Parts: sequence; C-alpha cells; structure tokens
Amino acid sequence: MGQPMSAAKKVLFSRIALIGIGLIGSSLARVVRRDGLAEHISVATRSKETLKKAKALKLADSYSLDPAEAVRDADLVMLATPLGAYGDVAKAMAPGLKPGAIVSDVGSCKESVFRDVGPHLPKGVHLVPGHPVAGTEHSGPEAGFAELFDGRWCVLTPAREADAEAVDKVAELWRRAGMMIERMDARHHDQVLALTSHLPHLIAYTIVGTATDLGDALKREVFKYSAGGFRDFTRIAASDPVMWRDIFLKNKDEVLDVLGRFTEDLTALQRAIRRGEGDKLEKHFTRTRAIRRGVIEAKQD
Ligand code: NAP
Repeated sequence: MGQPMSAAKKVLFSRIALIGIGLIGSSLARVVRRDGLAEHISVATRSKETLKKAKALKLADSYSLDPAEAVRDADLVMLATPLGAYGDVAKAMAPGLKPGAIVSDVGSCKESVFRDVGPHLPKGVHLVPGHPVAGTEHSGPEAGFAELFDGRWCVLTPAREADAEAVDKVAELWRRAGMMIERMDARHHDQVLALTSHLPHLIAYTIVGTATDLGDALKREVFKYSAGGFRDFTRIAASDPVMWRDIFLKNKDEVLDVLGRFTEDLTALQRAIRRGEGDKLEKHFTRTRAIRRGVIEAKQD
C-alpha cells in the first residue's frame, strides 16, 4: 500500500542492532537504510569474514563480533541467526541490553524463541518474536535485497501480555518493509508453518536425495529432464542446511504430526495406484488443483 513520503521516511528507532547479517538480516538492513528507519544500525555476526563482507556492502554504521557490544543502547535488537544459535546469542548479548529495549527475531519457528531467548532477557526488556515469511534459497550478506519482503506476510507472535507499544513498533517496521502483518499464537504459527513450509522442504530434501542415490547414468537423465517437476524441488532442496537442520529440531512435534498425516495420505494414493483406482486419483488431483487457484488469488504465487 502506498504511503505519503513524509510517513515513509519517519525514523522509527534511534538505534537498531542486527544480530546475524545473512540473507534476512542484510535485507532488513537495506530496508532500514533505504527508508531511514533508524539513526544508527549496528551489526554483530559470528565470523570475521561475514563482518568484512557486511562492511564492504556498507550495511551498517558500526560492526562487531560481540553481540553485547552491538546491542548497547539499541531500542530494537533483531535476531537473524539460525534458530540453534539463539540461546547462546541471547546469553551473550544480555549484559548489553538497555531497559525498555525490544528484542525481536526473524526465525522460522516461534515457540522455541520463548524457550531459548526468554530466560536470558533482563526484566524490562520486551520480547516480540516475529517471522517474515519471505526468503530465497541463498544465504549470506550478499544474498540480501530490500524488496525481499514486498507483499509478503510477517507473523508476530508476542505473548498475550506483551507490551502493546513494543508490538506496534515491530509491526510498523515490517509494514515499512512492505509486509502485511498478522498476529498469532506461537504454537499456532508453528503448526501452520509445519504444513506450508517445513513439510514441503522435507519432501524436497527427500526427493532430491533419492535422485542422488541413483546410478550415474540414471542421474544424468534426471538432470536432463528435470523440467518435468524435479527442477522445482532442487531449488527448495538447495536451501541452507544449517537453517533447516535447526527448523526441524526446533519444530519437532509439529513437523512429526503433519508428517504422520502426510504419510497416511501418501499410502492412500499408493494404494489407489496399485489398485488402478483412476477415479480416486482424478478426484484427488482435481481437489488439489483448486488449491493452486486459491494461492494465486491470495497473491502468494
Ligand atoms: P544466513 O544467510 O545463513 O545468515 C546467518 C547469520 O547468522 C550470519 O550472520 C551468520 O554469521 C550468523 N550465524 C550463523 N550461525 C551462528 C552461530 N552459531 N552463532 C552466531 N551467529 C551465527 O541465514 P538467513 O537465511 O538470513 O536466516 C536467518 C534466520 O532467518 C533463521 O533463523 C531462519 O529461520 C530465518 N528465516 C530465513 C528465511 C530464508 O528463506 N532464508 C526466511 C524467513 C526466516 P557468520 O556468517 O558470521 O557465521
């Protein structure tokens, strides 16, 4: 939605700290810079190499390898590391947090944020977990771009008793990044995403894995004729291995639940093929075709 120029340029935070400056962190840094949403951006990352890249790309005003140093005086701290690092990062940054600071994140699972980050935050610091549902299969600071979030959903999952002003400020940041905002219970988010994102990734990792276990001659044919459907799975299965390892470990229960349902449905289709039940197959495929139309109508294709 369009905004008057003055509103689009208004500073939201005097200091934002981005902990992790890969695809998502650097895309957000680019938005904050482009639209002047903070007076100062500080960045912390784990390796000197990534810090050097972030500096070369001029993504921030200050750079550090120490999360506590990066978050000092920040009004907003955005965690953008893989989920498995959250606990250690939260512990390391806690001494630098100022009272009243907002800690948010971009992680793909939400219940685990309360478990891993919550206990490390000093009193008076507001936790507003979030998930910009936007991404690519690429990683690192060079992979980011400001338009990544345009027209996509951002799901915020603060606790019911969370500070309303803090939630509004995080929502406004993502709105300025071009996102539509939805507030949801963390567990509900994890159930929905297990089906819409985590299961499809697991299926893609499985199919591409199956193909790579084939003999060399057959493998060459698979690549040659990949436009028949396989190609789309290879794009998803090229997603970051560490990020996806952590998603499956952190959203274990919900993923196992949808995986159980999926396995039952797959078995039913397998039986229909074995028994030659064409009417069952056709009925199923007709129903799923309508889902695609729904996705297109929701402008998420
Ligand atoms: P990325 O491009 O791989 O960047 C990860 C960042 O986290 C880098 O700065 C990296 O530092 C740092 N990092 C990695 N391991 C760390 C550790 N053990 N301790 C401290 N820092 C560590 O990742 P991304 O794709 O931006 O994903 C970041 C988060 O966004 C994840 O939680 C993911 O669930 C979520 N997310 C991703 C997508 C997507 O499509 N990629 C979409 C929505 C949400 P070094 O490079 O210095 O090691």
